[in-house]
Amino acid sequence: MQDVNPAAPATAGTGTGRPPAELPHRLGTRHPDELPHRLRTRHPDELLHRLRTRHPADPVTHVERVPARAGQQTPWPHWAPEELRAAFARRGVTAPWRHQAEAAELAYAGQHVVVATGTASGKSLAYQLPALATLLADPRATVLYLAPTKALAADQLRAVAGLDLDGVRPACYDGDTPRAEREWIRRHARFVLTNPDMLHHGILPGHAHWSGFLRRLTYVVVDECHTYRGVFGSHVAHVLRRLRRRCAQFGRTPVFLLASATSGEPAVTAGRLTGLPVTAVTEDASPRGGVTFALWEPPLLPPPADADARTADLTQVRRSALRETADLLADTVAAGVRTLAFVRSRRGAEVVAANARRALDEAVPGLGERVAAYRGGYLREERRELERAVLHGDLLGLASTNALELGVDLVGLDAVLICGWPGTRASLWQQAGRAGRSGDEALAVLVARDDPLDTYLVHHPEALFGRPVEATVLDPANPYVLTPQLACAAAESPLTPADLELFGDGAKEAVDHLVQAGDLRQRPTGWYWRHRERPEVDLRGEGGSPVCVVEASTGRLLGTVDGGSAHFLVHPGAVYLHQGISYVVEALDLDDGCALVHAEEPDWSTHARDVTSLSVVSVRSYLDAGPVGLFLGEVDVTSQVVSYQRRRIATGEVIDTRPLDLPARELRTVAVWFTLSPQSLAAASVEPADVPGALHAAEHAAIGLLPLMATCDRWDIGGLSTALHPDTEAPTVFVYDGHPGGAGFAERAYRTAAAWLGATRDAIVECGCESGCPSCVQSPKCGNGNNPLSKPDAVRVLDVVLTHLPAEAAAPPRQTVHQSRLPDRA
Ligand SMILES: [Zn+2]
Ligand SMILES: [Zn+2]
Repeated sequence: MQDVNPAAPATAGTGTGRPPAELPHRLGTRHPDELPHRLRTRHPDELLHRLRTRHPADPVTHVERVPARAGQQTPWPHWAPEELRAAFARRGVTAPWRHQAEAAELAYAGQHVVVATGTASGKSLAYQLPALATLLADPRATVLYLAPTKALAADQLRAVAGLDLDGVRPACYDGDTPRAEREWIRRHARFVLTNPDMLHHGILPGHAHWSGFLRRLTYVVVDECHTYRGVFGSHVAHVLRRLRRRCAQFGRTPVFLLASATSGEPAVTAGRLTGLPVTAVTEDASPRGGVTFALWEPPLLPPPADADARTADLTQVRRSALRETADLLADTVAAGVRTLAFVRSRRGAEVVAANARRALDEAVPGLGERVAAYRGGYLREERRELERAVLHGDLLGLASTNALELGVDLVGLDAVLICGWPGTRASLWQQAGRAGRSGDEALAVLVARDDPLDTYLVHHPEALFGRPVEATVLDPANPYVLTPQLACAAAESPLTPADLELFGDGAKEAVDHLVQAGDLRQRPTGWYWRHRERPEVDLRGEGGSPVCVVEASTGRLLGTVDGGSAHFLVHPGAVYLHQGISYVVEALDLDDGCALVHAEEPDWSTHARDVTSLSVVSVRSYLDAGPVGLFLGEVDVTSQVVSYQRRRIATGEVIDTRPLDLPARELRTVAVWFTLSPQSLAAASVEPADVPGALHAAEHAAIGLLPLMATCDRWDIGGLSTALHPDTEAPTVFVYDGHPGGAGFAERAYRTAAAWLGATRDAIVECGCESGCPSCVQSPKCGNGNNPLSKPDAVRVLDVVLTHLPAEAAAPPRQTVHQSRLPDRA
């Protein structure tokens, strides 16, 4: 995640054939010319041609050439002091890239700005430049830097401290900061690096100690702001509002400088996060190497010979992405090409490495030894050793989880294989960015998994290589977030009517609710916190108290799981992955909030199933499109996890389904739903008997495609479909946020309904299967065992919806709030 300014702009990507001066340190002691002779670079075209001949039908759906880009530099802004320019020059930066200068100029002029450009495009410099220039020019000014993790803040501290600027006095202030140093930092540090949790728990409640710092605060830097999404992001949005309120009380209005991965609508998201108007800088002017990017769809397997004709289609699946990736890895290694394969789970990475090794050993005994799996949790020396082995060619193939993102300095590989869509474009480019030595073209291959989103993406390259559509979503108006945050704010200092405006929609209702509950007292001067203790609010906890995951033999606490997902993730018998290591759950004690596990790596994964019912509480916004209705509103969802499936990791084959005995749970949340009139379905030739299967199939695919529009996981959302719902009195498909009060996903779905459901339709149509498979309408978490499902009728249903829905995004929500959004805590 670290975002460093690319060094040596003058020599990168010149294509002279002479390696730039910086390369040798990455390659250890050897010069590239001295690399073992089998490591000859192959042109990506030649390599790809070799790979794609492996199946009779070409699995490549698209080849995109991402051309090398020369960076565009601009002169330093006139206000950048000589001392700072010299410090950057010592680090190899002779001038800023255009986007860095553009963002810096805006911020220096007092505008809130978000810079949303690619991985390693040098976003740090964009905020360091105005922040440090101001600290040097004004000896009183201070800067607050927020990172989502302590590790990133520590990296940034090293970068800023390394500039060795007089009087800046940077310091990290987080849970690890020794007591003895805290006082000094509060009094003397001028560039304080921390995280939102510390701001929330430490700095804002202790504002009396921080008044000196806050009354001189000039910039607030919010790094990696795309990570503030969902419920956590909604909490952080209010922590930032509380910070703004404190500063305003001291007469300060600091400028916000945000950095984000590329995403759709970065200005909108940053505006929601800060509550301020934010200008976006999105045009990346940093240099990059050329990549040939292939999209790869594993072929459908023929149905098993023993399947009878009636069920043959439902058992049809694609060759697993893991097997496909393993074969590709073996092929590239056999060709002497240094290749890195990214696989989502550790177990999956090991399956890929093991299969590739086996295939290679069959071809040339001993060749398998040049492939390894990489797990998280390696020591620093082990990681360095691994880097050396790969860069020298002792290892030619490495299968890794995302753990590799954390601290292995491996770049300049010849090929990168990405097994399954990694969830966001930011991750995709981060992984693909490992390929490509300077001046050489590299190959990246995205291997689609059995999943509607993967299917859609390999058939819609424009969604990957064109303008991003996925947006980071959050919902600061969620009453389950807003109410406790207002309590925190009131405990810091009494709330005034002006504050209600700052905290936005729903703040008045939330305050009334706190008064009723006896937490706030209303006086002529405002609302006062009535308790001695401060409210206890965890920014990252959600959906009930978290469940602790404990290793049974040692009593060691491995981590926690949200109360909301505990039934799904740590039910008895569940295979639970923690930092890439696999555990099996022995028991789940809901009263104690604890799951006992032991380390074990079975060759199956587990998939919980639930049964769900849903009732509509209120409609927040709707669109009347004749026979079709589109709605956004509050719903109550009752669900119970009743069983789980065990599936073979390598093949996805179902081993068995085992029952579970867990209590039902209630969730009040936000949902988007659409209804169709029975007449419109009849006119589209959907027989009444096929309506349930049609809606169910459309619901699955729609859930699978929502992550295209919003940075959520399909596990963040749930769905329900029915041929007749008592509250809508019509055939209906519901898709709801899996978090109490909603996290913004359903709202985003409502706002982009035409695009979202259009993509859903395309994903179903373009899947080559006969009547439904996991790549289109089957769901890995279906509570009904994927039955009934009708693929052709799902397309008809979606065609009816799309014919009537306006192509433009639906009207913005919150225009028609019919009922209170306040949580009912009775
Ligand atoms: Zn299919
Ligand atoms: Zn289902």
